[in-house]
Amino acid sequence: MTGPRSATVVGGGIAGLAAAVSLLQAGWSVRVLERAATSGEVGAGLAVTRNGMAALDALGVGERVRAAGHRTVAAGVRDLHGRWLLRLPGRPGDPEAVDVAWGVHRQRLHGALLGAAGAADLTTGARVVAVQPGEPGGAPAAVTWLDGAGEHTVPADLVVAADGIRSGVRSRLFPGRRAALRYSGRSSWRAVVDDDHTPDEGFTARWGPDAEFGAVRISAAQVYWYGYVRLPERTSFDDELTAVVERFSGWSGDVRATIAATAPGRLLRHDVHHLPRGLPSYVRGRTVLIGDAAHAMLPTMGQGANTSVEDGVCVGRLIGQPLADGAPLRAALAAFDRDRRPRCQLIARRSAQTARFGAHVPGGPRQALRNAAVRAVPAGRAAAAGTAVLRWEPPPPGGAAA
Ligand SMILES: Cc1cc2nc3c(=O)[nH]c(=O)nc-3n(C[C@H](O)[C@H](O)[C@H](O)COP(=O)(O)OP(=O)(O)OC[C@H]3O[C@@H](n4cnc5c(N)ncnc54)[C@H](O)[C@@H]3O)c2cc1C
Repeated sequence: MTGPRSATVVGGGIAGLAAAVSLLQAGWSVRVLERAATSGEVGAGLAVTRNGMAALDALGVGERVRAAGHRTVAAGVRDLHGRWLLRLPGRPGDPEAVDVAWGVHRQRLHGALLGAAGAADLTTGARVVAVQPGEPGGAPAAVTWLDGAGEHTVPADLVVAADGIRSGVRSRLFPGRRAALRYSGRSSWRAVVDDDHTPDEGFTARWGPDAEFGAVRISAAQVYWYGYVRLPERTSFDDELTAVVERFSGWSGDVRATIAATAPGRLLRHDVHHLPRGLPSYVRGRTVLIGDAAHAMLPTMGQGANTSVEDGVCVGRLIGQPLADGAPLRAALAAFDRDRRPRCQLIARRSAQTARFGAHVPGGPRQALRNAAVRAVPAGRAAAAGTAVLRWEPPPPGGAAA
């Protein structure tokens, strides 16, 4: 490499910061443009699964995230009354468990990545309005943004589009219907509650009519919960807390108690969208799409953020490092697309299947039928099905795909 290469990352969320860290590790000069006035995370908690933690370890922040979170294990699925439908074999203390998970506050995860990306040139309040994708081996890419000082355009050897589910870069580079975002028919309440006493039973999803509830401890003093329900798009309630209390009123006492512990100001709700058909490529010119910009998926496997961190690592290891070692950009981008797209699209499809079999099943006899079918699944077989997703390892730092 003749000198440090330059990358511009659009979006300073989890995916964008992960990519920035991995490109810095590969010796690149990195600019991150973030639309928000301050760099931070809205949102509540999430479960970092084994694959996500492997990616965070590759970025050098795994220990910090472990220390900021709570180690648990995926325990299985219960019905709305709390009866087990599927109980996975792992136990919270098992050091070998594949389905280990760390509950963590999103802000702490984001803060860990932000700290590791300190050598990047991060500009907040910078709204990207245009991207010229450039040509590998030809014209550089160009990114244009607006901030308080006006309009700016910079060239870049590589653009990383990490601008989230409503990615403007995606809609400009992939204008067709295939790349259109679709409302899932579901909306999700989320909150972090103060709770230092509920014992950790493992990370458990609960399925009821047209709904899923889940809770995971994210620190000694806090629990994160979500309630994912069928709702028309853009529904609004005068009192969101009353609405969620009513929606889960027939569920088991521990679910109701967790919701009741929520302070109104800490309750969030977001309509859930996804890219059901997936993109035909994650690459256009010198631009690579990652995270929700590339593969917004239903949250029913809890893999959106985990795969976003994986993507970030792969930007450095499959593109940044090979280029630093003299590989051509076109080949590196093709290797990234070959490695990431089949995996992320498979996980997105599985998330949709899980939804069809779980949270999207309506009330009435179909609940009883589904519950009976899930009870009949051997726990070992169910655990093995998730193993391929969870056993992911980062490509080696030398750049070849794992
Ligand atoms: C209800 C729900 C629950 C979830 N639970 C989990 C879970 O348990 N586990 C899990 O792994 N995933 C979960 N996810 C998914 C996860 O939240 C996302 O996949 C992940 O946050 C995507 O990260 P990202 O960086 O791609 O996008 P984002 O976090 O959305 O970041 C995009 C960034 O780009 C910025 N941006 C956008 N446009 C521009 C622009 N024009 N110029 C500059 N900056 C711009 C935004 O301000 C933002 O900071 C859940 C999602 C939902 C909806």
